[in-house]
Amino acid sequence: METIQNYINGSLKDPESGMWLDNYCPANGAIYGRIPDSSKADVDKAYESAKTAFPSWSETTLEHRSRLLLKIADLIEANLERFAAAESKDNGKPIQLAKRVDIPRAASNFRFFAHAITQFSSESHDSVGLDAINFTLRQPIGVVGCISPWNLPLYLFTWKIAPALAAGNCVIAKPSEITPLTAFLLSELCIEAGLPEGVLNIVHGSGKTTGQAIIEHPGVKAISFTGGTATGEHIARTAAPMFKKLSLELGGKNPNIIFADCDYDTMLETTVRSSFSNQGQICLCGSRIFVEASMYDKFKTDFIEKVKELKVGHPTEAETDIGALVSKPHLEKVLDYIKQAPQEGGKILCGGNPVSVEGFENGYYLEPTVIEVATDTCKINQEEVFGPVVTIMPFDSEDQVLEMANKVKYGLSATLWTNDLKRTMRLSKKLEAGIVWVNTWMLRDLRTPFGGMKSSGVGREGGFEALRFFTEAKNVCIKY
Ligand code: NAD
Repeated sequence: METIQNYINGSLKDPESGMWLDNYCPANGAIYGRIPDSSKADVDKAYESAKTAFPSWSETTLEHRSRLLLKIADLIEANLERFAAAESKDNGKPIQLAKRVDIPRAASNFRFFAHAITQFSSESHDSVGLDAINFTLRQPIGVVGCISPWNLPLYLFTWKIAPALAAGNCVIAKPSEITPLTAFLLSELCIEAGLPEGVLNIVHGSGKTTGQAIIEHPGVKAISFTGGTATGEHIARTAAPMFKKLSLELGGKNPNIIFADCDYDTMLETTVRSSFSNQGQICLCGSRIFVEASMYDKFKTDFIEKVKELKVGHPTEAETDIGALVSKPHLEKVLDYIKQAPQEGGKILCGGNPVSVEGFENGYYLEPTVIEVATDTCKINQEEVFGPVVTIMPFDSEDQVLEMANKVKYGLSATLWTNDLKRTMRLSKKLEAGIVWVNTWMLRDLRTPFGGMKSSGVGREGGFEALRFFTEAKNVCIKY
């Protein structure tokens, strides 16, 4: 049994509450460890240590902060194999994916913000004719909360922690209780790197106890949250009366719009990835595929052929394309969506069934599933399924597909496949999405704003946007 501990005031601790949660391995359905179900008392301790650390941390030189973050990045890279194995075991994702994407990206997050803080600057305004000069300070906020989901556990956890620390804040962070392992390993590395006590505190536990204690804490001045839209709503309701700064990265139901003039082979290969990477459990997956009518039949045939080649299997097998879904309740939720789709005219073109992987029959495996929908307004086309399930349907015109693409409550990302420049510009401007990819998917430049519109969230992460979020702007006006 692996026991995970909280990281509070620079050391690893059991929860004050004495309460623990089971940790499941999605690949075989077995309990393989326990994690603290931390109470308000643990969060209070984390807060006190963060508050005590803040005056000193916020005054450390940028170079010193930067060096420490770079050291953490190096240590993550040096432990790539161990971290990838842990991420795969905890989440069910193919170990190859964790090795190629999740863990390197977690190291990049620290490295990126270690460099970014040395380039971050504020403005000055010369009030000409008034004999006054204004300069703006960008000061760290104080103690901030970072709460992340289970789908890209260390990747999204570090995407918040790194800019918060780089900007000079002290942090109380909570990973998802469903995938806590790599956050725990990170706390060991922070100790090894010599991060001062209390600067980062990682408190484990469920959303309704530990998470709630973080968001309710009056001393936690800002919350950076990634997770479901319903949880985001709850956090906004709780935090708004205390006027906390909020960054909310929420759900998506992203359109993948394919025109007949696209580069077909690249589009097809990328569409398989954008549909099923990480078992479809990426907030950016293009789960609604719209294809120009003139090539709909060809696409349908070729896409299904490729999807059928995907191998569902144990996450540690090198040839596995699709591992296990993250939990039993999540598998059941996804299956429920699939079962309901035919009631609204959906036709399951491939997949739709749980998979029994030999030797791991209790794991949470599901076939990659393609559903042809009769209308864009059916439930499976409107609600976030967050699994290896995509819908496909044809469209006749640009106006029609734009209307369908925008007719959901979400607005996170959109993918567009076309070689027509004018169409690219028209649609990029009109698509209601925080991120538009044209002729690619998931190409990430960490300097760019990242986030969603509508029910996909409030605020942007990435680059200087994140450093702005984690600082207060204070203008100083001097009359001379
Ligand atoms: P979730 O909302 O259930 O949980 C996310 C985190 O919030 C977890 O750590 C959880 O413990 C915590 N939490 C739950 N209730 C809380 C409360 N009352 N107070 C404070 N914290 C609480 O989401 P999930 O199921 O872990 O993740 C899947 C969702 O995340 C999907 O909707 C997906 O689209 C979204 N997501 C969005 C992005 C993005 O960048 N927009 C990225 C990844 C995932």
